[in-house]
Amino acid sequence: MAEAATRITDVAIVGAGLCGLALARALHAQGLSVTVIEARDRLGGRALTRHCDRTAQALDLGPTWFWPDTEPRMAATLAGLGLPSAPQHDPGDALWLTDPDRAPERRVEPDGVHAGARRIEGGAARLVDALAATLPAGCVRTGHALRRVCDRGHHLALEIESGGRMQWLRTRHVALALPPRLVHERIAFEPPLPPALVDALASTATWMAAQAKAVTSYAQPFWRAAGQSGNAFVRHAQAVLGEVFDASDPRTGAGALGGFVALDAAQRASFRRGMPMLIESQLAQLHGAAALQDGVLHFVDWAEEAWTCANADRDGPPTLPQSVPALRCAHWSGRLHFGGSESAAHGTGHMEGALEAAARIARALAPQRAVIEAPSRNAGAPVDFAAAATELRMQAPSHYRRHLTRLMAEQQIEQLTQRALLATAEQVYSEALVALDVLLDGRAIDASLTHAGAVQGGRHPSTPALLASFEGWNGQLLSAALAFNAGSCALSNFPGEAQPDSVQQRAIALDLAAAWREFAVELNARLLAASFETEASS
Ligand SMILES: Cc1cc2nc3c(=O)[nH]c(=O)nc-3n(C[C@H](O)[C@H](O)[C@H](O)COP(=O)(O)OP(=O)(O)OC[C@H]3O[C@@H](n4cnc5c(N)ncnc54)[C@H](O)[C@@H]3O)c2cc1C
Repeated sequence: MAEAATRITDVAIVGAGLCGLALARALHAQGLSVTVIEARDRLGGRALTRHCDRTAQALDLGPTWFWPDTEPRMAATLAGLGLPSAPQHDPGDALWLTDPDRAPERRVEPDGVHAGARRIEGGAARLVDALAATLPAGCVRTGHALRRVCDRGHHLALEIESGGRMQWLRTRHVALALPPRLVHERIAFEPPLPPALVDALASTATWMAAQAKAVTSYAQPFWRAAGQSGNAFVRHAQAVLGEVFDASDPRTGAGALGGFVALDAAQRASFRRGMPMLIESQLAQLHGAAALQDGVLHFVDWAEEAWTCANADRDGPPTLPQSVPALRCAHWSGRLHFGGSESAAHGTGHMEGALEAAARIARALAPQRAVIEAPSRNAGAPVDFAAAATELRMQAPSHYRRHLTRLMAEQQIEQLTQRALLATAEQVYSEALVALDVLLDGRAIDASLTHAGAVQGGRHPSTPALLASFEGWNGQLLSAALAFNAGSCALSNFPGEAQPDSVQQRAIALDLAAAWREFAVELNARLLAASFETEASS
């Protein structure tokens, strides 16, 4: 098809995962024309729920959990869409298998294993479907893969492959709502992107992309009757499932055991045909003969999913995605945006990050309106920024403990303090920006905040006063965390974490300073955008 023959859309969103769908919903609600391009023939991306014919259970083969205490956007979005959730089943003993020749050991886990995690009733696909239902018919094109983005001056031209044929889409803006590494490996740019941005795309790992997940569905959750939680950890060299949990659909009386495969992508590829048998025998080793009766295995190897796993994810060592500020800037005069969960400052790699990235891009494309649900405690009321900041600061120590507990529950063993502190700072700064959005929203507009008259050197006159609410806070947060660590029984097995040395403390301080810098720049940008909007409309 000739490039010039197509009409221009306001925003082309590439990727119909949670980020792309949440973004499409927000922009459509604001009256922008949106076209969503999706390479797969289904929606949801990594969010994938299968239905078991035999037990009628909804089983998540992709994301399962969210943590409302630390993931306000997930909680608010689910509440806004009327989607119920249920706590992850944890009561009962966990099993630990450390020797392949011995029976598993039962361990009491007084605080549970999953630290406040909840599951969406009916699976993550409920969220995907609910977001998609808000979009106009024909807005999403499945089976369409973006190959090239060209800057044509007054518009962008997207070269898209569908059914073996190439076609063009013309758009004013494009949002790439997919893993950064896939952008790097699969999409060409004319003109080429700057080297620093290319590096940022290439070095941002895709969360869980190289993993495989197995969920076995049973008529009954038989382990519960034996006083077990369904949680199990297999820690020996021949482990097939490293971590197992109760994946039963609470709406049915049936049972399911979910697990993450411990073999790496290359090992899985060479044992492909034998995987079901290996998984079954691992479950039998944990739970005995009951695990061999009437189980139906559902399995997805995400490393084999070309629209999720980049070559660098599959072939390189497993890496946690780092939150890279360069991915959160708009490029090409504000017309090119990078999204996907891995671009988010808070909740990076999680569903929360996908929603956060969507909210950021929606704000950038239509900064004058409120977008996507704000956390419910801020909704509807005029919020004084200093008061909101004080409340957020007070909540930070408990956020820190939750992030720390969660990292330990995920069996992470390195840089626990550093990562929990960074996650806490990013959460608090992210929530502070949401509070600012509420202040800048028409419901509670404050002329002193939005008056742009005295903008100097790109700094809004209200920026220093608002930032003052967080002055010295990074240091206080670090001190509070170190004090907590020193008395923590859970950290006694990690001496380096209980009392981080000066080198570690410096690394933590640098991380927190980077989070602060990014917050300050974003806060200033939002004040300026609100001021310009106010001036333009007066
Ligand atoms: C096994 C597993 C377990 C997980 N567990 C959890 C969990 O418990 N909790 C949690 O919060 N998160 C979890 N996650 C992570 C969570 O799934 C992701 O953070 C989230 O789904 C990412 O959404 P996204 O929209 O940013 O990206 P994606 O879901 O990856 O969506 C990107 C979309 O872009 C499409 N696409 C790619 N390339 C192109 C192209 N060139 N053209 C057009 N379309 C393209 C893809 O097909 C896909 O639909 C898990 C992930 C996996 C795989």
